[in-house]
Amino acid sequence: MSFKMKYTITPKYLTSGTKRRSGIKAHNIKFIVAHDTGNKGSTALNNVNYYENSKNEQSASAHIFVDDKNIYECIPALTGSPEKAWHVLYNTPKDNEMFDCNANDAAIGVEYCFGANINSDESYKRYIWVMAYICYKFKLDPKNSVVGHFILDPSRKSDPRSGLSDSHRTYEQMLKDVVSEYEDCITNATPIPINKPKDDEPMTEAEKLQMATLEKTVKQQAEWIKAEKEKANMECPNWAKEAYAYYKDYISDTKGSYDFWRQLVITYRKDNNIKVSK
Ligand SMILES: [Zn+2]
Repeated sequence: MSFKMKYTITPKYLTSGTKRRSGIKAHNIKFIVAHDTGNKGSTALNNVNYYENSKNEQSASAHIFVDDKNIYECIPALTGSPEKAWHVLYNTPKDNEMFDCNANDAAIGVEYCFGANINSDESYKRYIWVMAYICYKFKLDPKNSVVGHFILDPSRKSDPRSGLSDSHRTYEQMLKDVVSEYEDCITNATPIPINKPKDDEPMTEAEKLQMATLEKTVKQQAEWIKAEKEKANMECPNWAKEAYAYYKDYISDTKGSYDFWRQLVITYRKDNNIKVSK
């Protein structure tokens, strides 16, 4: 089973061993927390740069930022061995109730970027796709492995519902879209051919013509070689029969080259004073 890689995930890792990126491995990924940046107009790159610039000031972090052009991974999840990110408060009970673990230990946090300067259709497509791909990668059921941050921390958070509503989308539709995207990318995935031999490719018209010309030349050469070989060791030709009969008691071999027979005819004519008219 393979997954349709519609987009590129670009690693842009934060400095490890900082407040934002501890470097602690996450060994058992069980779900995805859907976030939005809550900051209208900030791009994926803006957010990653902000994280890096404040890496020792705050511990809040997420793995992936998505906008209309890029999918940046600032804490390893898909492009490297998964690490923990601090995207949901530890003391919220809902994640434990739903998934029997803490989001920070077992969930990938994905941030949706939105706002006037960001094409929401493109940003949404990448957001949906990357969550479907996380399901595929960690063998999660897309139907029940995605949860919004606002569900885990309802008193403090409204994302990604609020970010999605900016382009009149709903959280409920988003959950459904992840499932359909997953199914689409699984069923339509074409495995990448490995080491496909180059000469499997069909020939162009020019190559075909070149090949036909080459074949013709080779055939002509073969015929010429065959004819030359035959000439080198031929039975007595009709035009030399008279000469051969005259000298046959002096000739041991019945075969000879074209030049041999020609020479024999000349000698015969000379001996018998047969002059040729010119
Ligand atoms: Zn959030």
